[in-house]
Amino acid sequence: MAIKDTFGRPLRDLRISVTDRCSFRCVYCMPREIYDDHEYLKRSQILTYDEITRVARVAVDLGVSKLRLTGGEPLLRREVEQLVERLSGIDGVEDLAMTTNALQLSKKAPALVAAGLGRVTISLDAIDDTRFREMVDTDVDVDVVLRAIEDAATAGLGPVKINAVVRRGWNEDQVLPLAEYFRNTGHVLRFIEYMDVGSTNQWVLDEVVTSQQLIDAISSEWPIEPVDPNYPGEVAERWTYRDGAGELGFISSVSAPFCGSCTRLRLSAEGSLYTCLFASSGTDLRGPLRDGVSDDELRGLITQTWTDRSDRYSELRGATPLPTPKVEMSYIGG
Ligand code: SAM
Ligand code: SF4
Ligand code: SF4
Repeated sequence: MAIKDTFGRPLRDLRISVTDRCSFRCVYCMPREIYDDHEYLKRSQILTYDEITRVARVAVDLGVSKLRLTGGEPLLRREVEQLVERLSGIDGVEDLAMTTNALQLSKKAPALVAAGLGRVTISLDAIDDTRFREMVDTDVDVDVVLRAIEDAATAGLGPVKINAVVRRGWNEDQVLPLAEYFRNTGHVLRFIEYMDVGSTNQWVLDEVVTSQQLIDAISSEWPIEPVDPNYPGEVAERWTYRDGAGELGFISSVSAPFCGSCTRLRLSAEGSLYTCLFASSGTDLRGPLRDGVSDDELRGLITQTWTDRSDRYSELRGATPLPTPKVEMSYIGG
């Protein structure tokens, strides 16, 4: 039986950030002027694979059935497949996934599959090479990511989900090219509204392109229609092309928040538990883990963190002051 928070939301998912470092400098997430000079976590500050596995095992015991590895860039963590292997061996894990920028995925996909990774979500905000480089702010060629998407699917990590964040003034001209590229591929393109997570991205509401605006733009080229969710509380609204070219998703975190069905707990790379993307502080587990906490005590800490939870930031956006300091997306993992 899953534990429930103060609004009756069950604990179902654990997102595990395995590093705060990244190989990209996406303008909306890790702007170069801040992150080139940033003080990253030291190795000793980051949870070991044993520590992460222990937390995951207890979380699964408390109702979690979905695990997702994220970051920073999870593929930067050395031999991350060893962590995947341990996590996939936990009884009760029904879904083990990773969110990645895919830079090293072509090389690593077979080992990740062998270790038990079920699927990947790949972030890609542009098809045009110049736009892509502007968004991720590196000189990597977009073809590296496009190839990794195919390699991941071939290795057995499909159907691949592609996450695209649209930021007005930066990449809204990529919406139709992205849609066109992924039509008839079997991969599921999902557009995410640009969110006010963290403070380094200087978010302003005017830069948000809403799902409805995206739906209108895509529909005028290729008509689409909504379909039922795969399961209750699915975050992305599912749509399909009327001409049978496949499925699309829209994640309307700003224009239509879904806090009511938010069942996600987040573990930062340094071992703090966060109950919301917009929380300003977390529950430290690293200290207790390194001080010899028992499984029962660990269970108590996670249970209390979840049962005390009353977050619904996106539903209150604009109505209440922001919690400060706001945790960064690259730290908490999205
Ligand atoms: N580095 C990996 C990647 O990019 O897939 C995993 C971590 S990244 C923080 C996870 C997701 O958060 C990515 O899909 C990224 O596009 C999304 N993201 C980051 N900042 C965001 C923002 N301000 N609004 C919406 N999504 C954001
Ligand atoms: Fe790195 Fe992912 Fe953030 Fe881009 S979105 S900077 S790839 S952590
Ligand atoms: Fe969940 Fe917080 Fe996002 Fe609401 S704002 S959906 S509670 S993470």
